[in-house]
Amino acid sequence: MKKEIDPRMHSAEHILNQTMVRFFGCGRCFSSHIEKKKSKCDYHFDRPLVEEEVDRIMTQVNEVIQLNLSVSEEFVARDEAEKRFNLNRLPEHAGDPVRIINIGDYDACPCIGPHVHFTGEIGAFRIISTSFENGVLRIRFRLSGAEDRIPGAGR
Ligand SMILES: [Zn+2]
Repeated sequence: MKKEIDPRMHSAEHILNQTMVRFFGCGRCFSSHIEKKKSKCDYHFDRPLVEEEVDRIMTQVNEVIQLNLSVSEEFVARDEAEKRFNLNRLPEHAGDPVRIINIGDYDACPCIGPHVHFTGEIGAFRIISTSFENGVLRIRFRLSGAEDRIPGAGR
């Protein structure tokens, strides 16, 4: 039986991936382990992150969460999707058309997983730790409840 994926965590993963792509030009994570309590994502990388970079990533991800962007699905013909996206991480049965998850205009990614409707539902994003070994950067993160105030949030 397939394990249920937490939509908040999984949506946070998409935002984190887009943030990594924008900041470092690396690819999205090639492997991830998403659980309700804490999750981790692995990236092909060339060095460890310094603390300042970890802070920048957290700030950016939390800003996207606070914007309360809508998360919507779109269905795109497979040959069209192949031009726009890397479909390697989609399972075989993903089919045609391919489901694309759009997070406002911040991120678009082919995906079959469950998502929140608005990024504000995710709650506060926090990186617990990062490590680097053999060309792999691992980022471990948690979420606090959506009801928790994010420090610096305007409302
Ligand atoms: Zn997804």
